[in-house]
Amino acid sequence: MTKIDIKKKVLSKNDEAALKLKAIFAEKGIKCFNLIGSPGSGKTSVLEAAFEMGKGSLKCAVIEGDVKTDKDMQRIKEKGIPAVQIETDGACHLNAEQIGVMLNKLPTEEINCLIIENVGNLICPTSYDLGEEERMIVISVAEGDDKPLKYPSAFTSATVMIITKIDLAPYVDSDPETLKNNALSVNPRLKVLMTSAKTGEGIDRFVEMIS
Ligand code: MG
Ligand code: ZN
Repeated sequence: MTKIDIKKKVLSKNDEAALKLKAIFAEKGIKCFNLIGSPGSGKTSVLEAAFEMGKGSLKCAVIEGDVKTDKDMQRIKEKGIPAVQIETDGACHLNAEQIGVMLNKLPTEEINCLIIENVGNLICPTSYDLGEEERMIVISVAEGDDKPLKYPSAFTSATVMIITKIDLAPYVDSDPETLKNNALSVNPRLKVLMTSAKTGEGIDRFVEMIS
């Protein structure tokens, strides 16, 4: 019982902070996206490819979340996109309060799109609302097409699924169509994008979504 109570308290504190974020986003006309996926699923690579394709037309900023290093922030900045890094130093998810602090470090008057790349993890980031309008689950074909069945909460709480590295499908024992159908079986409303950051396939649809 005690454990459950503590979790509830933490979540309601987060939900309060998330509500404040939603109000800020609405006031400033910013659409917020929360990218959730395993380490190595290709979250940063999809962003790099999108910023390359949408160069000059996108008004985005990025908040990067990782346990250590600012490597991903550097990769995003190299594409000319404002970015800040949250190093969680062990924590496996981001919370809404952290996003509120980082917003002050971004040119919020000049953007209409904020992308949060969550810490690589399919489990607890799904319990933390970051004030986002779209929650995007990012999964590569190499992770196996059964993952939506094994980690359903990541898929049921998302509005968009980005399947990445589809160029690898012939080399790994996984079928993108099966992966897609498994995800749709746990959440029929998911919008599904099949992408390859390497070949550029499907990246245009992602650029449209964040434009
Ligand atoms: Mg990354
Ligand atoms: Zn966590």
